[in-house]
Formats: sequence, structure tokens, C-alpha cells
Amino acid sequence: MTDTCKINQVLLSLGANLGDRRTTLSDAVEALRQTGTLQNITASSFYETEPFGVKEQPAFLNIAISGYTALSPHILLLQCKSLEAKFGRQKRERWHERELDIDIIYFGNEILDTPRLTIPHPQATRRNFVLVPLAEIAPDFVDPNIGITVRELRDKCSDECKVTLKTH
Ligand code: ADP
Ligand code: MG
Repeated sequence: MTDTCKINQVLLSLGANLGDRRTTLSDAVEALRQTGTLQNITASSFYETEPFGVKEQPAFLNIAISGYTALSPHILLLQCKSLEAKFGRQKRERWHERELDIDIIYFGNEILDTPRLTIPHPQATRRNFVLVPLAEIAPDFVDPNIGITVRELRDKCSDECKVTLKTH
């Protein structure tokens, strides 16, 4: 069980491919800060990513963030889901477009496998659009399942989706 008084470092992946993607991502980070969901937030640069799976949809803008929280993993998930709803996320099929997606990639060293929440995030740690931004802000974070760093995961990743740094 997670001790809710313990402060954990959390690594999140955020993505959007509808609407004003950059504003949505920036506002979502600000909301995580303002609501006190996460403290001491560090955000990566913006990266543009070709869609994974279903190709006939706009490109994604992705970022990774690091922050610290005393919340439990399940409460953090609820906060993330409620933020997605606040930013207008509609229900669509898997791998289709989304106004805002917030995934919990790591929660300290926790390993969780429940119907609602799996941490480390099972697919995300095999995706360039997660690993490239994450390696910018937390290259030395060690994956508690695999025991290697985020930098190594990024370097070994066989995903061929292109992820491009967006400087403007
Ligand atoms: P996607 O898998 O493409 O991100 P959704 O954002 O719609 O799709 O998430 C579907 C469900 O995945 C969520 O309702 C949530 O319960 C579950 N889930 C399991 N593990 C995680 C995680 N680590 N982070 C975020 N959601 C998760
Ligand atoms: Mg998600």
C-alpha cells in the first residue's frame, strides 16, 4: 500500500492533437501546479510526434513533466482524468485523436497492476513520444520493473515513430 503522507516523484506524459495543442498542454501543467496536485514541476520542451496506430489524424504535441506529490496513485489518476475532462476530452476509440491525454508513467518506485491503473505505464515505456521528452527531464530515473534508466530505455527503443523537437 502507498503511504499517502510520503512524497513521491511522479513522471507524467501529456499529449494533444486537437485544438490549440500548445496552450492546452501549458494550461494543463499550470492547472496541476495551481490545484496543488504536483509540486516543483519541471516540464520538457514540446515535441511533435506522428500519430501512433491510427495514422489518419493530426500530429501530436507531447511533453513530459516531473513533479512531487503526497497523493496516492489512484487519487492522482482521478485528478488527471478530471483535468482531461476539463480540457474537453471526448470519448473516442483507442489510439484516436484527443484534446488532452495525461498518462502516469512512473510514480516513485511503485509497481502497480490494477484494472484501473498500471504503473509503470505498460506501453508508454516503449514509445518514443514518451521516452524522448522524459529523457530530457529525467534521464537518470531508473525504471523499477526493468532496472535501467530512462536514457537507456530511449536509446534502446525500437519504436520508429518520429519525434521532433518544436522550437517555435
Ligand atoms: P490511453 O491508454 O490511450 O492513454 P486513455 O487515456 O483513454 O487511453 O486511458 C484509458 C484508461 O487507462 C484510463 O481510464 C485509466 O484507468 C487506465 N490507465 C491504466 N494505467 C494508467 C496510467 N499509468 N496512466 C493513465 N491511465 C492509466
Ligand atoms: Mg491516457
